[in-house]
Amino acid sequence: MSRFQREQLVEEIKLKGIKDENVLRAIATVEREKFIPKTMAHLAYKDTALPIGYEQTISQPYTVAFMTEKLNLKKEDKVLEVGTGSGYQAAILYQMGMKVYSIEINLELHNKTKQLFDELGIRVHAKYGDGTIGWAEFSPYNGIIVTAGSPSIPNKLMEQLTIGGKLVIPVGPRDYQDLFVITRLSEDEYSKETYPRFVFVPLIGKNGWEKNKIK
Ligand code: SAH
Repeated sequence: MSRFQREQLVEEIKLKGIKDENVLRAIATVEREKFIPKTMAHLAYKDTALPIGYEQTISQPYTVAFMTEKLNLKKEDKVLEVGTGSGYQAAILYQMGMKVYSIEINLELHNKTKQLFDELGIRVHAKYGDGTIGWAEFSPYNGIIVTAGSPSIPNKLMEQLTIGGKLVIPVGPRDYQDLFVITRLSEDEYSKETYPRFVFVPLIGKNGWEKNKIK
C-alpha cells in the first residue's frame, strides 16, 4: 500500500517540476511514515509539511526534492545538513548514496532521531549542536543544506564548501524565505541563484535568529 502511495507522490512532485531520477527514486523508496508521529501516518504521502513536535516540522516532500535536486550531488559526495529534525531529509540523502553529516540544535529531537536512524539502519553522522557554525571537523562538503529559515548566509557554511560545492539555504524574514543556491566557484568567489517563496521554521543559534525573539 505505502509503496503505491509513494509512487503517487512521486508523480505529483514530477508534475510540480522535479526531474532528477535519483531524487525521485529516493522519494519512492524512503518510508516517510517512519519519520512522523504515528497519529499522522495517514498523511505521510500527502505533499505537505507536518508537525513533528517541539514546534518543528518535517518539510513538504516537494521542498525536500527541490532542495536535494539543487544540491546536485553524486554518490559518495559528502553533505552536511543543518536541522536534522525528523531525519527524513537526511534519509533521502543517505538513500541516494551520499555520506551524510547532520546537526540538530534541539537535544530531545536529536536523541529521538538518532535512535530512529539506528533502528532503520540509516548510517548518518548525527550531532547535537549549533549548525550555523557548520561542522569543521569533516569539512569541506560537496553540499550543505540548511532546512530552517535563516536571517542571512552564515559565513562558516560558505567556508566549509569544496570548490564547486553548493550551499542550499532559505534566507529571509521570519515568515517566508527565498531559497538561495550558492556555488563556490573558487577559493574566494561564489555565485548565487534565488528561488522565491518558501516557508521554513526559524534557524536559531550563533548566526541565526535569537531564540528568545522568535515567539
Ligand atoms: N530536515 C528536517 C526539517 C526539520 S525542521 C526534516 O527532514 O524533518 C528544522 C530543524 O532545524 C528543527 O528540528 C530545528 O530544531 C533545527 N534547527 C534550528 N536551528 C538550528 C541550528 N542552528 N542548528 C541545527 N539545527 C537547527
